Amino acid sequence: MGNIILTGDRPTGPLHIGHYVGSLKNRVKLQNEGNYDEMYVFLADAQALTDNFDNPKKVKDNVLEVALDYLACGIDPNKVNIFIQSEVSELTELTFYYMNLVTISRLHRNPTVKEEIKLRGFEESIPAGFFTYPISQTADITAFKANIVPVGDDQLPMLEQAREIVRKFNSIYGDTLVEPNALLPENENARRLVGIDGNAKMSKSLGNCIYLKDSKEEVKKKVFSMYTDPNHIKVEDPGKVEGNVVFTYLDVFCKEDSFEKYLPEYKNLDELKDHYRRGGLGDMKIKRFLNDVIEDELAPIRKRREELSKEPEKVYEILKKGTLTARKKAQETLKEVKKAMMLNYFE
Ligand code: ATP
Ligand code: MG
Repeated sequence: MGNIILTGDRPTGPLHIGHYVGSLKNRVKLQNEGNYDEMYVFLADAQALTDNFDNPKKVKDNVLEVALDYLACGIDPNKVNIFIQSEVSELTELTFYYMNLVTISRLHRNPTVKEEIKLRGFEESIPAGFFTYPISQTADITAFKANIVPVGDDQLPMLEQAREIVRKFNSIYGDTLVEPNALLPENENARRLVGIDGNAKMSKSLGNCIYLKDSKEEVKKKVFSMYTDPNHIKVEDPGKVEGNVVFTYLDVFCKEDSFEKYLPEYKNLDELKDHYRRGGLGDMKIKRFLNDVIEDELAPIRKRREELSKEPEKVYEILKKGTLTARKKAQETLKEVKKAMMLNYFE
């Protein structure tokens, strides 16, 4: 069997550089390597509603925003089916059947869901839809028989849950579904990019993001407001590199030619880090460098995004085409699933 690649994003805001290094970059790389049979990328609007049910306009508007981000980053609609989750109702039906295969206590143990419940202040009254979203994520993945899922590491518990459901389904009803594997970025700091405030995760819900669509000026402002080492006050002071957001980002974004281009007095990042540790290197200088390095990556994306945003109807055409293809595949899988569950009365 060949590879089937799938991932999605919640349209709760435009995408940020955490999405970019955590998952999007890997998708574009996989797409361009071409070692797959089918590739899907989707807008998880139904999932976004589980914690934004009172704000449908936010979800609707961000479907276009995220689609623009995909295309601007190089997702090619000729190679990848980009689809809208709620337009593939088979996914909802699969979710319903998978509900039987998961216990409430198992859902409670999911560390990512636990964190997110806390973050949203849902402790006292968790919406059932939100609590069970790992099950619907399993439907999203298995409907396409995806075996490769490029994600950041907050998604590992979701993938584990999906594998458990697949194993349980197959053992009860016979071999039908495929166990998926997460594909994490090689760079460890990119697996869960910290926020500009030093918070453990850059996240739309935390408001600590650099967005792909941010203007040059906005990016600069955010880089210069970044958390560094609070004890590094004077330029001469020795500084800490660990936990220093600027260095974490440099670890992720520096390319081979970055120093030659923007900071030729240093050979590489290790040299720069050593100087910072010794003292004598100011925060302004490292921030200016980081800003140049990030700008190098974001400028072409921003430009493509601006162009694309002038023709939203073209973007919706792309989404429609991808959705039709996705629907067909999900229908086939649902048929197999129902047959395995003996829900095929009229065949
Ligand atoms: P929300 O706050 O609405 O959950 P989010 O910023 O967590 O938004 P998602 O849409 O939940 O974004 O995640 C989409 C994908 O991006 C997932 O694969 C996730 O692992 C990855 N991702 C999100 N944030 C980061 C991050 N800071 N670093 C690396 N990957 C990330
Ligand atoms: Mg998230």
